Amino acid sequence: MDIYFGTAVSPGIGGGKAFVIPEQVHRVIPQNTITAQDVDTEWLRYTYARDTVAKQIRGQLEKIDSINDKIQKEIFETYSLMLTDPVFNTDVNNSLKERLFNIEFVLNAKAEEYANKLINSGNDYLAERGQDITDIFGRVLNELLNIHPFDMEEIPEGAVLIGRNISASDAMLLSKKRLAGLALTEGGPSSHVAILARNYAIPAIFAVPKITRKIKNGDTVIIDANTGEVLICPDETTVQDYEKKIRKQNEHKKALRVFRDKKAQSKDGVQFNIYANIGTVEEARIALENGAEGIGLFRTEFLFMNELGDASENSIRTITEETQFEAYKSVLEMFGEKPVTIRTLDAGGDKLLRLLEAPVEEEKNPLMGLRAIRMSLRYPQIFRTQLRALYRASVYGNLRIMLPLITSNEQIVQSRVLAEQVCGELEVEGVPFKRDVPIGIMVETAAAGIIADELAKSAAFFSVGTNDLTQYTLGVDRENTNVVALYDEFHPAVLRLLKNSLDAAAAQKIPISVCGEMASRLDSAMLLAGMGIRNLSMSSSQICQVKEKLSTMTIKELEELYDRERNKR
Ligand code: PEP
Ligand code: MG
Repeated sequence: MDIYFGTAVSPGIGGGKAFVIPEQVHRVIPQNTITAQDVDTEWLRYTYARDTVAKQIRGQLEKIDSINDKIQKEIFETYSLMLTDPVFNTDVNNSLKERLFNIEFVLNAKAEEYANKLINSGNDYLAERGQDITDIFGRVLNELLNIHPFDMEEIPEGAVLIGRNISASDAMLLSKKRLAGLALTEGGPSSHVAILARNYAIPAIFAVPKITRKIKNGDTVIIDANTGEVLICPDETTVQDYEKKIRKQNEHKKALRVFRDKKAQSKDGVQFNIYANIGTVEEARIALENGAEGIGLFRTEFLFMNELGDASENSIRTITEETQFEAYKSVLEMFGEKPVTIRTLDAGGDKLLRLLEAPVEEEKNPLMGLRAIRMSLRYPQIFRTQLRALYRASVYGNLRIMLPLITSNEQIVQSRVLAEQVCGELEVEGVPFKRDVPIGIMVETAAAGIIADELAKSAAFFSVGTNDLTQYTLGVDRENTNVVALYDEFHPAVLRLLKNSLDAAAAQKIPISVCGEMASRLDSAMLLAGMGIRNLSMSSSQICQVKEKLSTMTIKELEELYDRERNKR
């Protein structure tokens, strides 16, 4: 038996057979001249590759049955039509004959030409189709080049997944696999994959050195994310030990269920509101099952992520107003009178490589770049579409709109102007909507924490994103394994900014919650409670545990805990 150590990012213990994600091969398009005699062979290669992809898509279409996969189904159907589009195919054929280059080169150039025309059309629907062209002919190119990107579908249910890293969009698919555990060589506790692992209650350990080289497919692996240990090929006694631990863990989970429908309160009866963080409609259901009193953070960028993008890319696709509207409406209806806080697109950073013509992939430092509200204000068309979908959905429940990565009042004002324009449009169109939807902000930059008093005058509410607040205040990349030890949410600078925001919100009498991962973990959640935070939004899997922990401590004890931490350094 070998034991490796890493950073536990999602608690719990799980075991099973390992599935090791293969390293990705990047697509490089060769450019070779051909002769007129080669044209037929090249064309045959193309039609063979195209038909292979068409067959794969038909197979995938047959497997889709759930209503949750409505978006996927539409995409596959569009793909099928595109592959056989006579105009495109004739154009590729003519270009092959005229230019006399290998088919990969010709096809890539044509696909880019068609895609760019649509992407730059300024029309949402057409831009989506442009993205589809890139995706589908990318698959044909892979087939021609004999590149077979790893397909998440290959992962068997109940496996322990081992890899270097996975994109957030792939991580979304993991929920369907009922993974027993996850171990990666990269990543930190605030990475989006870690957040998703916690949401789906998958025990996970990141930053485990060389793990992909130590484990083979099919090896028995135990992930003990309570201690940060990855046990490879454990002996019989260890397996039995762990089986006992897992049984105990499951019993504790069952016992915690009594807290599901109980109001969260401290031992001496001070009440707390416990909300959930979600990224999909499916997660909203899980949140309800876990007793969430509302949604404190709906990360809408996950709706935009291309579930079909190849695993090497963390791609985002634009989605129509209608698709967004349906998703927001479903969540609002599910929660009825309970508040549902939907955050506008937080694209950028690790959550985006391509979105319309946004040149994010070329940024040297995307986390400091065109991310979140900056991107929405730069591309108002995307922002407007989202706002339209949100306001249209507002009549189905208790909506709150939240703006990410705010650093100035100006950004709130500009967003409001757009929101008012959208309301004006809907009014003219006779579409029902609520005009008084509260527009609040994420406090997740040092700037926002420092000028919280100013921002509290124009924001309807605050929600503190401690993941980014820690990252930007300390200048420590939340995803970077090399500096994970410096990523300290209890750093006095972070705590002071939090307290400053709490005081500013109190002075302006606006609600404040914490939706960063600090609210999900027991120790930090208690610290926040001791500071005076009464609204916590967290991974659904943590709700009952946090409620249980709160019930064991008085407010005085919680305050003492906070004071001790504050005075430590
Ligand atoms: C945060 O930064 O704390 C937050 C909740 O937002 P995200 O993790 O999506 O960046
Ligand atoms: Mg954030």
